[in-house]
Formats: sequence, C-alpha cells, structure tokens
Amino acid sequence: MKLDDEQEFFRDSLREYLEEEIQPDVEEKAGEALSKDEVIDYQVRFKEDLGIGFSPDVADDYWGDLAFYGIGSEEISRVWPSLNVTLNMSFPAMFVEFASDETQDAMLGKLESGEIIGGLAVSEPHSGTDTVNLRTTAEPDGDQYVLNGQKTWVSNAPIADVMLVAAENEETGSREMFLVDQENSPFDTSELHKIGWKASPTGEIYLDDVRVPKDNNLGNMISNAMAEGNTLEEMLPYPDSVMELFFELKPLNAIFAFMRTGMALMAVGIMQAALDDSVEYAKERESFGKPIGQHQLIQEKLYSMKAQTVASRQMAYHAIDLLSEADTDARLMSSLAKGWACEKCNEVTYDAMQIHGAMGLSEEYPLERYHRDARVMTIPDGTTEIQKLIVGSEMLDMSAYA
Ligand SMILES: Cc1cc2nc3c(=O)[nH]c(=O)nc-3n(C[C@H](O)[C@H](O)[C@H](O)COP(=O)(O)OP(=O)(O)OC[C@H]3O[C@@H](n4cnc5c(N)ncnc54)[C@H](O)[C@@H]3O)c2cc1C
Repeated sequence: MKLDDEQEFFRDSLREYLEEEIQPDVEEKAGEALSKDEVIDYQVRFKEDLGIGFSPDVADDYWGDLAFYGIGSEEISRVWPSLNVTLNMSFPAMFVEFASDETQDAMLGKLESGEIIGGLAVSEPHSGTDTVNLRTTAEPDGDQYVLNGQKTWVSNAPIADVMLVAAENEETGSREMFLVDQENSPFDTSELHKIGWKASPTGEIYLDDVRVPKDNNLGNMISNAMAEGNTLEEMLPYPDSVMELFFELKPLNAIFAFMRTGMALMAVGIMQAALDDSVEYAKERESFGKPIGQHQLIQEKLYSMKAQTVASRQMAYHAIDLLSEADTDARLMSSLAKGWACEKCNEVTYDAMQIHGAMGLSEEYPLERYHRDARVMTIPDGTTEIQKLIVGSEMLDMSAYA
C-alpha cells in the first residue's frame, strides 16, 4: 500500500509533533507507570493539538480511516509504545454514552472533555488465552447484576474510570460484557510490574460483590440504544468496513482483526526506531580505523533488520487493505501480521543492541528499552502461538485450539 498525499501529510505532521512534544518526556517517564493525570494530559493534548484522539468522543475521526489508524500506531510506537497502548486501550469508555443513567451522570462529563480512562478486562488468573473458561460471574439481582471474580493483566486497570468486564451471566449461562464504573460500582485494583511497556499501567481487578445496573450489560446497552434510533455504526468507533465484518466474521473476530493489525504496526514502529538508531550509529562509531558500517557483518545485520521491518509493514498494510474492503481474509492476514511482526521486532531490537555494542546495553541509550518493549509484543492480544493457530484454522478450515 502506498500512502496518498493526505496520509503522508498526516504521518509527517504526527512524527514532527511526537518528536518535539512527546519524545522529550520519554527518557524521564518511560521507567514507570504513568499516573492518571499524566494519561489524561496526553489524551487531551492529542485531541487539542492534533485534532485526533483515542478518547472515545473523537475516536470516529481517527479510526474512521484505517490507514490513519495504522499510521498512528506505527508513529506513536516509534517514539513510545507504552503511550500507544494506554491511549488505545481506553476505548471501552465510549460505551458510557449508552450506559445506565447513573453511569452517564457520573461519567458523561468526563467523556465529553476527554478526561476519562477506560479498559477491557477479559483475562483472569486461570485463563488468558482460554477466554472460553472464565470464572468471573454476573448474578442477576433485581435490576442489577452482582459481579464476582478476578481479572489480571488488564491495561489501564489501576487508573481506569470504567471497565468493560467479561463475565458469565448466571441467568443465560453465556459470556457477556458489563460496563463497571468506579464511582457507582467501586472495584479494587493493584498494579503489576513487567519487563517492558513500563509506562503503560497494567493491573489486577478484584470484583467482590460489585453491583452494576442491568442497563450496563453491553447487550442491553446496544438494544436500548437501537430502540432509541441509534445504529450500530453510530455506536461503535469502527470504520463501516470493519462493521460489515461483524456479520461475516462475528463481532469479536472483526474487532480482534482490527486490534491485531494495530499491534503489528506497533511492532513496526519499534523496529523502525531501532533501525534508524542503528543506521546512524553504524555511520558514526569507528573500529579498526573505519566506521563500523563498513564492516560487512554490520551491513548484513542492517540488511536483515530492514527486510524484517519492510516485510512486517507490508503485511500489516495488506491487512489494512483487506479490513478496508471488508474482506474476510482480514482475519488471517491480521493474525499473520501480528504474529510475524511481533516476533521479528524481537530479532530487530536484538540486532540493534548488538550493533551498539556496550552502549546497546546502557540505560543511557534507548536500545535496551526498545528490546524490552519488543519482548512484551508477543503476548497481549493473543500470543504468537494463537496467531499461528488462527492462520492455520483459516487456511485449513480446521481449528487446532478450540
Ligand atoms: C502487557 C500486557 C497487557 C495486557 N492487557 C490486557 C488487557 O487490557 N485486557 C485483558 O483482558 N488482557 C490483557 N492482557 C492479557 C493477555 O491477553 C494474556 O496474557 C494473553 O492472552 C496470554 O494469556 P496468559 O498470559 O494467561 O497465558 P496462557 O494462556 O497461560 O498461555 C501460556 C502459554 O501457552 C500457550 N498456549 C495456550 N493455549 C494454547 C493452545 N491452545 N495452543 C498452543 N499454545 C497455547 C500460550 O501461547 C503461551 O505460550 C495483557 C497482557 C500483557 C502482558
């Protein structure tokens, strides 16, 4: 895919903005989880300065064109992957608009000003990949559900105002989603520490008799909103073509295809940063009386890093093209791109450290952060193993995992 003039302009302006406005913060803030105030500040600045946003009220403008979504994922991650994750994973906050009156009263103002943080809580201590066997329950009680269970490894958990929580509805026996807001249905959280994406707050959620209104069941929210004349397209911040795939692939698979394509381009952003730094270093650093770039083994590494970066980007943009055309092959291609790019990103950042010698290991240089951030990429949003099995099942029409 070749970017058109408008897309190139967006990429160049975003890159310039990130280098001037965000890059200076990274060194200082990349080592620990951002506070809620810091995340809200970035969210509001992105909206005001660039007119693009991840906070739900402006999500339509940004996600409405998939190429812009891809460019955003790559460029932000080239500078700071943690920020990309934190802002993107706030998306469930958009459902506040369709939630119960009490959730709207507490959260709608924050949603309108972009000062709300959301999260999606599916994973549990006993089931990450296996999302079928969840233990969190939602027991109906009058006009409420009572939620019990524990969620883990949830992005934004420690700072979220609202969480979309997956639980088994004990009435229907099916897995459903519930919007839980911190003000009306307080839930406890704790922070988890990890090797990379350190600025992205990740945590556990403890649901101990947490009461949510029946109107906060996602299924009820959608049917109530549709009864009031809203269409699905108006409610959800996905391009029409992704919405078309809701019917062809099932909604969750369409959403995963969308998210995994973004993850693949996140990996490309990390690779590009590592490659750019390595090319510069290969020109400057000398050994045996000449720049290390004149040693053939360094050029071989740069060749391989470039090939992996370009191939990963092409795969991800192929997935973007398929998503834009509502082509069902988007499921296969987004998993292929996510699985491939997130693994290759580890190889590229490893080679970048090697090219930098001892400086690659130094905390004074960003190389070790690229490598730590790359290491995280192969787990969330479906491990590499699961991406391989999805590609296998799409090719063979036979599933090896369910
Ligand atoms: C930084 C970070 C952010 C995250 N953010 C979120 C979030 O916002 N919301 C959320 O709900 N979750 C989130 N997660 C959780 C993430 O989705 C899970 O960690 C992931 O799905 C893997 O689950 P698990 O860790 O329990 O590993 P397990 O499922 O226990 O898997 C262990 C190993 O077994 C392999 N495996 C499992 N099943 C199979 C199979 N059928 N065939 C072959 N191999 C298999 C896996 O690939 C893996 O290698 C996040 C995780 C991380 C690390």
